[in-house]
Amino acid sequence: MENETHKAWKLSREEILGWLRCDDEAELARLWEKADDVRSRCVGDEVHLRGLTEISNYCQRSCAYCGLRKQNDALERYRMTEAEVLECASFAVEYGYGSLVLQAGEDAAWDAKSVSSLVRAIKKNYSLAVTLSLGEQPREVLKVWREAGADRYLLRFETSNKSLFKRVHPPLRDDVVRDRVEQLKLMRMLGYEIGSGVMIGLPGQSWDDLVNDLLLFRELELDMIGVGPFIANPATPMGADDASRFALSDSEQVPATELMTYKVLALTRLLCPLANIPATTALATLNPTSGRELGLRRGANVIMPNVTPVNWRMRYEIYPGKACLTESARQCAACIVTRIKAIGRKPGTGEGASPAYLARL
Ligand code: SAH
Repeated sequence: MENETHKAWKLSREEILGWLRCDDEAELARLWEKADDVRSRCVGDEVHLRGLTEISNYCQRSCAYCGLRKQNDALERYRMTEAEVLECASFAVEYGYGSLVLQAGEDAAWDAKSVSSLVRAIKKNYSLAVTLSLGEQPREVLKVWREAGADRYLLRFETSNKSLFKRVHPPLRDDVVRDRVEQLKLMRMLGYEIGSGVMIGLPGQSWDDLVNDLLLFRELELDMIGVGPFIANPATPMGADDASRFALSDSEQVPATELMTYKVLALTRLLCPLANIPATTALATLNPTSGRELGLRRGANVIMPNVTPVNWRMRYEIYPGKACLTESARQCAACIVTRIKAIGRKPGTGEGASPAYLARL
């Protein structure tokens, strides 16, 4: 599979920084064009669809950016049952999605046993790849879930700056510090397709940090890479009145903008040509009209339509104003397919495994 066309661009640290700082429209048009060209040659015109199922909004963590944090008393908590998740799986199949993503806060009730049972039931009844996005977990648990049939795992490292990460994502206990990069390496050893990513414009994220994030995507040879803008949530310390204490000075802080997200998407495609890269919901939240389409034309090849029942979806409030909050799963499916066709692309068929993963087999 690997040949000249699939070689990652040898972008230097300085070149990456130059692109991130570039505001010249004609120059940026060249970047979009290059990213779209590499996307088309390396992963093709199919847009893979993943049914996102938000199986619980309980969380034991205290992340400064996320509305699911345990201190958020205003959030009504829910946990889907196995039967409800299986119904979502049947919708995903009906709408032609190749995989189901099970995402949640770190909810102790979705434990080794219950998730294994759920994964087994999905794999037995439906032809779907199963992706887990259930936060940091002990080795044994990741192993048991993989043995139950889970194919992929998404765990964003959020920022490659270790001290910033620790500040915004305090460890559960001082004696249990799980390094997300180590977690990803472990998942790879266990045979998962591994997905990661960062928030763009996270308060405290410097330009150098973002360059390091991009270089780390390449170093880890990620199979999937999700990047989206940081969106302040007033129910978190990073959305509170004194949130400015997290940010750097104006010249040092990366802005959490739509344009910056496209730049990161495009550079990610050049650095990791074979990876699956979604146009994320956070991007669609900043630009509901054409964010997804522009993402798909600037490097992305995946969309993750939500299949969570609407009553639960409203409560999975990581950040406010999330795109597509009130549309039913069926409406989302129809809308997404129309949008994909309108830009001359086609909905993917099959499970949509990462070409990066397949190239490594
Ligand atoms: N508990 C899981 C799933 C978290 S939600 C985990 O920690 O991996 C999935 C992603 O949403 C996170 O990885 C984070 O990058 C993103 N996210 C959280 N809060 C956000 C915010 N305020 N703005 C934008 N993205 C956010």
